Amino acid sequence: MHAYVPGEQPQGGRVVKLNTNENPYPPAPAVVAAVQAAATADLRLYPEPSAKPLREEAARVYGVRPEQVLAGNGSDEILTMLMRALVGPDDIVVYPEPTYSLYDTLVTIQEGRSLTIPFPADFTLPPALFAAEGRLMMICNPNAPSGSLTPIATIAELASAFDGVVVVDEAYVDFAPEGSTALPLLASHDNVVVLRTFSKSFSLAGMRIGLAFGHPDLLGEIAKVKDSYNLSRVAIAAGTAALEAIDWMHENVARVVATRARLTERLSALGYDVLPSATNFVFARRAGEDQAPVQKALRDQGILVRHFATDRLRDALRISVGTEEETDRLLAALATIRG
Ligand code: PMP
Repeated sequence: MHAYVPGEQPQGGRVVKLNTNENPYPPAPAVVAAVQAAATADLRLYPEPSAKPLREEAARVYGVRPEQVLAGNGSDEILTMLMRALVGPDDIVVYPEPTYSLYDTLVTIQEGRSLTIPFPADFTLPPALFAAEGRLMMICNPNAPSGSLTPIATIAELASAFDGVVVVDEAYVDFAPEGSTALPLLASHDNVVVLRTFSKSFSLAGMRIGLAFGHPDLLGEIAKVKDSYNLSRVAIAAGTAALEAIDWMHENVARVVATRARLTERLSALGYDVLPSATNFVFARRAGEDQAPVQKALRDQGILVRHFATDRLRDALRISVGTEEETDRLLAALATIRG
């Protein structure tokens, strides 16, 4: 099988890191304080197995009940749990592509089968999805690496049409316009699971925290394959504090969204087609022109962006939105490379 290949993580050195969609701004000071406060002799004790304080705070913030929340060691772990609990040999997992490539790896591990339906050029959901059958459907919304957003009404139609479980991976939804989340669908569709991560909007990629929202019975089945103590005491404290300080996240998101608009405009001026982005990255394409050499030239200047060497994606770069200064450095380097 093909292993999932994460973006490069240089340890140290002065690089402009725009390749893995991390947040360029720090987490809330209250989060750092909560992490420090959790570093006591109590670390000899196991954490609360279900991350209860974090689930209770998430329930309060998102207007659901704690039984509707499952916590994971990053949303990647929740994706693993979903696949382990719901997908067996030859079971079908349906999703539009290109999308987050980990889905395919996880399906392969289960010996399941991926039924992939290509997105059209404008990255609206392919109509064939509405007639598809399978155990599980994965909808990354907003989608990676395109940054495109599907309206919640369309997701609702899909959830009604599909017999299995529909997972809406909302890793980037905090960067999308208000009203984009599928959370309201939980009230009407017991086959919908919504995934969130603290790695992007909350600036906590290094802490590894993700949440799933769904029907308590369904989450109960998924929790059966969970590691007993999947979140550390430190992660539970950090996630709870991040939710308590949610205004900080919203302020950072607003800054990223403002920079995203400028980055989009400037990349267009440099000859790239940039899809409207509802995320903290942009997908910039030069039709028919392999961008691998551009990625390499940027890398030589200490600027990391993501390139995918597949037929559909090789003429594009996925660039995370950095600080204003990082964005200026990227744009200046691109202008020289492109001459
Ligand atoms: N879903 C999508 C679409 C992502 O891009 C990522 C980050 N690579 C994740 C889930 C996983 O995020 P994490 O495990 O850091 O919560």
